[in-house]
Amino acid sequence: MNVKERINELRNILKKYNYEYYVKDNPSVSDQEFDALLHELIKLEEENPELHSIDSPTQRIGGIVLDKFQKVTHDVPMMSLNNAFNSDELRSFDNKIRKVKQDITYNVELKFDGLAGSLKYKNGLLIQGATRGNGVVGENITNNIKTIKSIPLQINHLFDLEVRGEIFMSKKSFDKANKERSNEGQDLFKNPRNAAAGSVRQLDSKIASKRNLDMFIYSVIGPEDHGLVSHSESLEFAKKLGFKINPLSRICKTIDEVIYFINEYTEQRDNLDYEIDGIVIKVNELDAYSEIGYTAKSPKWAIAYKFPAEEVITRINSITFQVGRTGQITPVANLDPVIVQGSTVSRATLHNEDYVVSKDIRENDYVVIRKAGDIIPEVVRVLEDRRDILSYPFMMVSRCPKCESELVRRSGEADHYCMNDFCDSKIIESLIHFASRKTMNIEGLGDRIVEQFYNDGFLKRISDIYKLKDHYKDLIVKEGFGVKSIDKLIENIEISKNNNLDKFIFGLGIRHVGEKVSKVIASNFTNLFELGTVSKEQLTDIDEIGDVIALSIIDYFNNEQNISLLNELEALGINMSYESNVEEKAEFAGKTFVLTGKLELFKRDQAKEMIENLGGKVSGSVSKKTNYVVAGSEAGSKLAKAQDLGVAVLTEEQFRDLLDR
Ligand code: NAD
Repeated sequence: MNVKERINELRNILKKYNYEYYVKDNPSVSDQEFDALLHELIKLEEENPELHSIDSPTQRIGGIVLDKFQKVTHDVPMMSLNNAFNSDELRSFDNKIRKVKQDITYNVELKFDGLAGSLKYKNGLLIQGATRGNGVVGENITNNIKTIKSIPLQINHLFDLEVRGEIFMSKKSFDKANKERSNEGQDLFKNPRNAAAGSVRQLDSKIASKRNLDMFIYSVIGPEDHGLVSHSESLEFAKKLGFKINPLSRICKTIDEVIYFINEYTEQRDNLDYEIDGIVIKVNELDAYSEIGYTAKSPKWAIAYKFPAEEVITRINSITFQVGRTGQITPVANLDPVIVQGSTVSRATLHNEDYVVSKDIRENDYVVIRKAGDIIPEVVRVLEDRRDILSYPFMMVSRCPKCESELVRRSGEADHYCMNDFCDSKIIESLIHFASRKTMNIEGLGDRIVEQFYNDGFLKRISDIYKLKDHYKDLIVKEGFGVKSIDKLIENIEISKNNNLDKFIFGLGIRHVGEKVSKVIASNFTNLFELGTVSKEQLTDIDEIGDVIALSIIDYFNNEQNISLLNELEALGINMSYESNVEEKAEFAGKTFVLTGKLELFKRDQAKEMIENLGGKVSGSVSKKTNYVVAGSEAGSKLAKAQDLGVAVLTEEQFRDLLDR
């Protein structure tokens, strides 16, 4: 599809989603998916200005005005807010503002997930309530607005006044409304935002009155007319007049303080009684507004930070099968690329046959995906109402997709295995594993190069890595390589010979022997070959080694091919003995560290190794037992938890000082 076609496709999809969201109050995709598509369209339109169209969803504010309501033209347009999705975008927003006006502060507020509303008062009486509509023209919903108990019908202020805010439904009222709808056999509301929008745009105000809506006021129009000089003063002013103001806003002097606030509420949002979808940051000093200015759609002195998507919807293009180094066959969903928590995801693991069958996942299905443990994308559920009627159920393959040998599923296990020791995929994956960062860490021998050298016949088994130098003349003339890169690669291979035994054991890929167990084994046996002579009982006597691991190790050493490989590797000069790296340091010995956020001074694995070599432990989660949390930029919930529990938090620089001490 070319750019023009993609732009047209995106415009059509977004128009459809806008209609479902604003007119039917019944969206078929998550806000994050909508935002991701809108973002893609904005970018394509910026890169291709000749394809600009005034009809594009990027040129519009909000929704479609329903004809069933009287129309209201806003005296001051109800604008949208520009969005930020990460701290870099927030810093760039701050830089742009500080270029115009140095000396400002920010009023930071929760971004309530409801719909914007305007309230007008004359002689102290509520005379009009309206929706934002398309920003210029909204819908007159005065009768429904009057049913919202927190909105004063009369105020002690005789000047004309317009205030704006968010009409929303609390989580409690949402659950209650859905319970009632379920009892009455009606379709359930998708989320509190749509429930609020659907309720406030009913012609019969009795319906709105039953729904228990609420409204937070977040701005006063024409604040100067009421003698106000800052946004926070406007909120205080509205509060004194009897409007409901959210108490959780805060004045921040710097963008770092803003980011801290965001981290706090990213963690705490689930504890609130209403939904929020981000944080709104507004310059507090009103006299700066005209200098900083406006775009056609939004003020430049404010921005909405949107929480990253935890779950997004996308389509499965195909399901393929991946062969792991142990021969394990994993079904993988190849997806229409989509952004999840800030990075593009185009593949998700489907784990095994049982997982796919239990969720009835099929090719071409629309699915909700999320990052399990925030890292590995997985399919959470299928949107069955969007399923193609011609789709057919998933079928597990019975033969290896690479070598075509019959797959085996052992009783009691969920995974299928390719049992062929000569399967190309298995060998390639085991070579990749041996050279990878956490094992022998051979820089320059990544996935692609291993596969290429395997296909060229230079690598067939692990020991061939150490014989690559024998092919020197052939390697330096290969396309994409040269003397310099091959010299460097051979040097890295030679360096890896001296790695500690635990790295080597992990690299061998013995079933059930991962990074941690490799360390335990290495520290209990001075030489690898000694491991081949011990009994199951001797192994299970070691803490952390159970029957399954012990049997797997024994199996490995009972296999003659493995012994011949180990002999060959020893002859090639690979270190097979254990030397403790640990030189305990008081600040680290016995202490538990948690690493979080983006680390810039250290690679995460490197930091972990340094901590362990000094006698410390690294854990993935923060608890009372954690001694230190090392927080890089964009640290989120773990940092907030550490602060909650009073755990010491170190910046990267402070961590470096601790290492150097
Ligand atoms: P927006 O929601 O990104 O931000 C502007 C709105 O934030 C304001 O109009 C206001 O109502 C609200 N807001 C909440 N708290 C506020 C506060 N403290 N101060 C100021 N404003 C506050 O912008 P938008 O233009 O309303 O965008 C619509 C959004 O609706 C999209 O980004 C998307 O997430 C969602 N949408 C979803 C679909 C869908 O199909 N899922 C379709 C259309 C739109």
